[in-house]
Amino acid sequence: MFLRIGALSWALTVFLCPGLRGKEAAARLPIPDKLVVLTFDDGNKSDLITVAPLLKKYGFGGTFFITSGWLGGEQRLTWPEVRQLQAEGFEIGCHTVSHPNLLALTAGEIRRQIEVFDRACAENQIKKPVSFSYPGGHFDRRVLAILQDLGYRIARRGRDPERPLEDNGGNGRAYVPGDDHPFLIPSSMTRGIGAQEDYRIAQALAEAHSGQITVLTYHGVPDVNRHCSTPIVRFRKDMDYLKESGATVIALRDLSRYVDLGKRPGDPFAPIVRRLGLRAEKPRCDNSEAVPQFSWEPASGGWTQKQVAYRLLVSSSKALLDRGEGDLWDSGKVTNTEWEVTYDGPALAGGRTYWWKVQLWNRRDLAEITRITPYQSEELITELHKSRPGPFSKVSSFTMGVSQP
Ligand SMILES: [Zn+2]
Repeated sequence: MFLRIGALSWALTVFLCPGLRGKEAAARLPIPDKLVVLTFDDGNKSDLITVAPLLKKYGFGGTFFITSGWLGGEQRLTWPEVRQLQAEGFEIGCHTVSHPNLLALTAGEIRRQIEVFDRACAENQIKKPVSFSYPGGHFDRRVLAILQDLGYRIARRGRDPERPLEDNGGNGRAYVPGDDHPFLIPSSMTRGIGAQEDYRIAQALAEAHSGQITVLTYHGVPDVNRHCSTPIVRFRKDMDYLKESGATVIALRDLSRYVDLGKRPGDPFAPIVRRLGLRAEKPRCDNSEAVPQFSWEPASGGWTQKQVAYRLLVSSSKALLDRGEGDLWDSGKVTNTEWEVTYDGPALAGGRTYWWKVQLWNRRDLAEITRITPYQSEELITELHKSRPGPFSKVSSFTMGVSQP
């Protein structure tokens, strides 16, 4: 009898209390199109007097990243005001104690910037922060490890290195859950003095589809620092646009309702480095002669990169090529800067269709990387400087002519 009851209660426990991860997964919502995360850096007075009232009116969430050592300064919030933002339902995130370039600090100093911030939050009845924003966009592997250790779940960076740095605002790319590391969530648009146009918010929102999420970064509305300032009229237009577009607007912490934040790349930098690979665009095949000629144009997403090698595959079927098999010809990695290659496999039959694709290896100029991404760590710059294969071009087909007798 005892055994039977024991077995039953065990079964009930398993049935009624699945693991936390299982529960979270069951409760997770599908990512809707037009999912937008709103973030505000530096702890400006305008967070409370201009931003929060409009967000509340529209039912929008938002994260306010506070620099604790700046509180009480000119046009900055005070602790009671930060508490008020929390009481109104907004998230308070960590933007360190003194807004240093974290790359210039020792690991111990980085840890203190975050621990002291967390302690100040606790003393001022602010919930333990789980979201972080890198001051000036500087990050390296040490900061990621310390954030993990101190119980953080999410961190937002700037737009570079995928987009060359513009200090006065601009558009970046959308956040791709599962691909981007949750501690390296890119900013899809940063408003600043050099990025005030209407199209920027439209462009950022247009990327929020098929599981991609748009993350917007603002500073003060307006800000004491002119370069990162957003006028009130501009901000109202942005929020009106999001409202009229039917966007779902949330705080950064609320990503956990939609995204499995435990799913992350083994190497946090890998997705960034892969996206910056060199790709072959405009693939062409000249098959006017018996032996086809292939050509392409190397594309590097705004970076100056040189092609140093290629690998070209020709296949008798698309299915084989999709599996990465060039059953007719696999050039192997050929060290060559040419964009034009002559077919060198067995004779091709007239009237038949064949499939091909090409992959390129890049080389970047170190001086250019450092110039375009002055905020990046030595370790990421070193990664970006390595020659590596980019993604394959899109699959193209060609049909051989039938020769006349
Ligand atoms: Zn900042």
